[in-house]
Amino acid sequence: MNKRYLILLLAIALCTVQAAAQNLKYVFLFIGDGMGMAQVDGTEMFLAEKEGIIGTHSLCFTQFPVATMVTTHSATNSVTDSAAGGTALACGTKTANHLIGMAADTTTVLTSIAERAKRSGCRVGIVTSVSIDHATPAAFYAHQPDRNMYYEIGCQLPASGFDFFAGAGFLDPYGKDAKEAGKPVFDLLGEHGYTLCLGLDEYADAGNDGGKIVLLSKDPQSKALVTAIDRRPGDLTLRQMTEAAVSTLARGDGKGFFLMVEGGKIDWSCHSNDAGAVFREVEDFDSAVQVAYDFYLQHPDETAIVVTADHETGGLALGDGLYVLGLKAYASQRLSVEELSARLTDLRNNSATTPEWETVRRFLTTNLGFWDTVALTADEEKALREEYHELFVARHDNEEETHYATNARFAAMAIRILDSKAHVSWASTEHSAGYVPLFAIGRGTEAFSPKMDNTQIAPTLARLAGYAE
Ligand SMILES: [Zn+2]
Repeated sequence: MNKRYLILLLAIALCTVQAAAQNLKYVFLFIGDGMGMAQVDGTEMFLAEKEGIIGTHSLCFTQFPVATMVTTHSATNSVTDSAAGGTALACGTKTANHLIGMAADTTTVLTSIAERAKRSGCRVGIVTSVSIDHATPAAFYAHQPDRNMYYEIGCQLPASGFDFFAGAGFLDPYGKDAKEAGKPVFDLLGEHGYTLCLGLDEYADAGNDGGKIVLLSKDPQSKALVTAIDRRPGDLTLRQMTEAAVSTLARGDGKGFFLMVEGGKIDWSCHSNDAGAVFREVEDFDSAVQVAYDFYLQHPDETAIVVTADHETGGLALGDGLYVLGLKAYASQRLSVEELSARLTDLRNNSATTPEWETVRRFLTTNLGFWDTVALTADEEKALREEYHELFVARHDNEEETHYATNARFAAMAIRILDSKAHVSWASTEHSAGYVPLFAIGRGTEAFSPKMDNTQIAPTLARLAGYAE
């Protein structure tokens, strides 16, 4: 073998070893809050049924090469809440329900993968479709003994030094519910060098110069983005916030970034037992994952994307006793149960005279497809007419309260009728135990197989990325 050939071979070998030792540079962690197996499978079957197919229409993230399942119990409960679930995913430690970034002893402060990424010189972004101080995002930057301490959680956000935050708003920025309130969270943001942008226009005006950004919706105290099924042009979306995050984080000094994106309203729609809204919400979450996937295609050797959930919500069951599904029934649903409830109540309150049954019937045809694409039995129509009488004629505000919403019973009943057409059922309006899915693509992600516990995800990602302890 001649000497020049040998040197060439050695050089190639050296490059290969260096590449293998190089750490992951871009880490995406997507959390579908409440997104159990049935929420994902149901969305894919709903999309297929809309096309007249029995089977699945694949989302982007379900086609990732690594697919496994994750156990979700907390340190104290077989059924976790989002605080313990978020803490397990962020910090790799089981804790008690309600705790944020703290161990079950309620005193030990844990370290999140986002904090480790920051310490390692990477840029860090946290994005959610609900409030930025809600349990899941909070578990990545805050440490509090109670998830409801929204002011205290909010105050820890600017102190994190993370580069990009996006969410609907802050729930208690002035400390109205705090034991001891100091400065408003908005003042602290300014003191820590953050630019607060209310809406995408302000984000664009702020100029993407690499400075620290907090992007919120136009109302900085809003609880959540508009649910995907109710969205109108101009409403801020999870996908837009993810695009803004990638755009800001990629302007770093080349050390890479860690980005967590939560689809928080999947959980909220499950709490309301609103399957038609859930499927649109999962589709919307998938659209945000697509942003990361496009980035991955440009940087395939340096990027990893993990998509998982903190727990299942609602005990969603695809099937109600018959060997049949009719998910296509949800195709004609145009509003979430909350919006349906609000519009029905508005229709009553804003009419000079009591709206006729025919008017309300047309409203249900327009927004749920009833008597059009969704045929109703005489009993179902009778039950709806009784609720119509209660709400519109007797003007009784009969309501049903779930975790995040209080809806007119009339609206909740209409959605239950849709469920019976679809043969979908729910066990409760709260969380359930059971595996959640995990999908991954990118360098080193074969490490996410086989079955995992939710505490193993952050340490595995941190190891692949070479984050400091
Ligand atoms: Zn929940």
